[in-house]
Amino acid sequence: MGIRHDQGIVLRSYPFGEADKVVVLLSPNHGKLRTVAKGIRKTKSRFGGRLEPFSHVDLVLYEGRNLDTITQVAMIEAFHQLRSDLDRVVAAGTMVEVADAVAQENESSVRLFLLLQRGLRALETGPAHPDLVTAYLLKAAETIGVAPALDQCAGCGRSDGLNRFSFGAGGVVCDQCRTPGAYSLRAGLTGYLAALAGADLAELPGADDKFSGEARGVARRFVEYHLERQIQSMAVLDV
Ligand SMILES: [Zn+2]
Repeated sequence: MGIRHDQGIVLRSYPFGEADKVVVLLSPNHGKLRTVAKGIRKTKSRFGGRLEPFSHVDLVLYEGRNLDTITQVAMIEAFHQLRSDLDRVVAAGTMVEVADAVAQENESSVRLFLLLQRGLRALETGPAHPDLVTAYLLKAAETIGVAPALDQCAGCGRSDGLNRFSFGAGGVVCDQCRTPGAYSLRAGLTGYLAALAGADLAELPGADDKFSGEARGVARRFVEYHLERQIQSMAVLDV
């Protein structure tokens, strides 16, 4: 046990003891970190607002038996702009919730970290693209090895007649491979999803109102199916 340095994006925090909080972060090298910020709930905390969700911070940690204690915090990237707009805060909230759900402790998470960082940066530069969260969900699935099949049938590999999406089979399926409960897709949606899965979060193709809502629903249900839990923050998006 001793002092060590790390960095991470704050995912969430919760009260701990009288005046402390447990702050959960995503570190590129160590995955999900649970740390203690002592005295952070006092009016004059030395941490200021630097440990709010979405902040990318540099940390000095004192290693403990169970949880490490934060002794110093320096801001790397604050994401001030996205915090000024409720739509962007909701989108960022979904991104950190999903990262929190898929990240493991004590495991390198470089790809997931970079995905979250790119997502937050896309929100920081302007209004949320209607398909940003959808693309993020598809890419998050890829980082944990469950990227949905979108170009070929998840059952037999053929690349035409892909009109249904099967959560159990892991992507689009043809009429021969359809499973009970496979979800019927609007014509063109398969290609729309594939384009989002392959695009850079900072340079997404133009959104199409005809597809955006359904694409988000498919991506959400797919990720929820694999996580075996609901993405709570997305309920706000779908009222
Ligand atoms: Zn098939």
